[in-house]
Amino acid sequence: MGILRNEFSWSKSRNETLQSCPRRYWFHYYGSWGGWDWQSDSRTREIYVLKQLHNRFAWIGVKVHKVLEELLQHLRKSKSLPSYQSVAESLQNRLRQDYRDSRDANYRVRPKRFMGLVEHEYQLPVNNEEWRTLANQAQICVKNFYQLPILNQLKNLDPSEWLELEELNSFQIDGCKIWVSLDACYRSDNQIVLLDWKTGKSEKADHSLQMGIYAMYASEKWGIQPNQILLKEVFLTTGKTREYEGKSLDLEGVQNYVTDSIKKMLTLLSRPEQNQADESDFGFTEDMTQCTLCNFRKLCPKWHSGDTE
Ligand code: SF4
Repeated sequence: MGILRNEFSWSKSRNETLQSCPRRYWFHYYGSWGGWDWQSDSRTREIYVLKQLHNRFAWIGVKVHKVLEELLQHLRKSKSLPSYQSVAESLQNRLRQDYRDSRDANYRVRPKRFMGLVEHEYQLPVNNEEWRTLANQAQICVKNFYQLPILNQLKNLDPSEWLELEELNSFQIDGCKIWVSLDACYRSDNQIVLLDWKTGKSEKADHSLQMGIYAMYASEKWGIQPNQILLKEVFLTTGKTREYEGKSLDLEGVQNYVTDSIKKMLTLLSRPEQNQADESDFGFTEDMTQCTLCNFRKLCPKWHSGDTE
C-alpha cells in the first residue's frame, strides 16, 4: 500500500462539524490522522479512538440504517423480506451487544470493530428507562419500515432497477471531491428515486441542502435531468414520507453554498496545498450544549487549560 495522504474533500457532515465547533472539526479531520497506527503518538491515537465514538442518538440511527440496508439487499435478491419478528430479535441482540461492548470499553482496543458511546466514555447520567426508550425507538423504526406502502413497489423491482444501497460515493464540485452515501436508489419508469431514512423524531428540519446534493450527484452519475429525480425522506418513527422533486430544488443555490463552504474550510488551513492545519487556528464553540456530547472533551484545551492550544 502506498503512503496515505489526508486529502481535502467536502461532505455535509464535515460542514456541520465545522459549524458546530472549529476545534471539534480539527480533532475529527486533522488531529486524528494517522491514529489508526499503534505507533502514532499517544494524543493522536487518543483523538482517533474518541473520533469513532457515537452518541446514543446517532448510534440508534446507525443500527437502524444497517438493518434496513440488509433488508433491502435481501429484497433485491429474493423479492421478499425475512419475518419482522426475526429482524426485531436480531436488532435487540445487536443493541444489547453494542451496549455491553461500549460499557466494557472494548472500543479502546479495536475502535472500528466495537461500538463506543460517548455516554460510557464520559460516564454521562443516562438511566435505564432512557436506554430502553431508545431501543424501543429503533424497534418502532424497523416496524414502520415493514408497513411502508412503498415496500410493494420495492418488492417488484427488477434487480437491474436497483442502483445503489448505502455505498460511499463521490462526485466533484469545482474540482473538490464531495462525498455522498444514498440510503437507497432505484429506477422507476423514467425516474430515479432516492430514499433517505430519518430515524430522529423531528420532521420539521429543512433537509433541502442534503436533497440538493443528492440530486446533483444523481444527475451527474446517471446523466439525467433534475426533473427525472424524485427524492423521498422517510420518517421511520412515524412512517410518514416527504417528497422533493429534483426540478423544484435550488441546485444553483446548493452549488454556491458548497463552494462557499469549501472556501471557508480552505482558509483555515496553514498549508492548503498539503491540506495541513494547525490546531491553534481552530477556535472553540461558545455553545456549551455542543461540548456536553462532544467526543473530544477530555482532550479539548477549552476544558483542560495548560494543554496544547
Ligand atoms: S469540547 Fe466543546 S470546545 Fe472542545 S472540541 Fe468539543 S465542542 Fe469544541
